[in-house]
Amino acid sequence: MSIISIENIRYTWPRSDSPALDISGLWVEQGETVFLRGASGSGKSTLLGLLAGTLTVQSGTLKILDTELISLSPRERDSFRANNIGIVFQQFNLIPFLTVEGNLRLAGRFSGEPRRDFRSKSEDLLKALNLDLGLLQRRADTLSVGQQQRVAIARALINDPELLLADEPTSALDADTRDTFMSLLMSVRDASDCTMIFASHDRSLMKYFDTEIELSEFNRAQEGKASRV
Ligand code: ADP
Ligand code: MG
Repeated sequence: MSIISIENIRYTWPRSDSPALDISGLWVEQGETVFLRGASGSGKSTLLGLLAGTLTVQSGTLKILDTELISLSPRERDSFRANNIGIVFQQFNLIPFLTVEGNLRLAGRFSGEPRRDFRSKSEDLLKALNLDLGLLQRRADTLSVGQQQRVAIARALINDPELLLADEPTSALDADTRDTFMSLLMSVRDASDCTMIFASHDRSLMKYFDTEIELSEFNRAQEGKASRV
């Protein structure tokens, strides 16, 4: 079954005179891990925003788990996202003044019904990510970058999402830290078996994924526009 189904979508940013995305068709199967590759400006973050439902298409069809996101109200979209989609952002976006536990609980709360096994689930995730359980009580702004990243993965997975989206989470890392991060990310992904879309311009990461989508081959809006790396 396709977990993501895209047909004839267009997205134009406000005040822009040409679309950032124009895709005739794109499908992702449940359980697949997809490397979404494209140069800077090719539309990766825009596409992830549409998949997450933080942006909405201006025409065409975009379905996740057979749900057409545009047919949901903004509130329904927020709850659909909280229940089905985990997101790891480029800048991690932890709430700095909350503890690690507070950050994880917040992600749980948005889904409407916080999980009863929150504590065991968060401890399992921290262990799987090689993080000390004592970190749960630490404020997010006291963590190292490497720890923040792993907490961001835990937060994305705390609700057992069907779909995990990651937007260049390794762009600030050196080669060693990047490989450690990728191995941890893939091992927790394997354990949950969720579908994953990982955006990056870094070809060397391709080896971790089942399939590659070269965005410029799908995105008609960027033909001849994005810089070639
Ligand atoms: P990538 O993530 O691959 O670097 P983006 O999706 O960020 O690409 O950008 C695709 C296009 O959309 C670019 O032309 C970029 O300038 C434009 N764009 C991205 N974000 C915004 C925004 N918030 N407002 C206006 N234009 C944007
Ligand atoms: Mg981007």
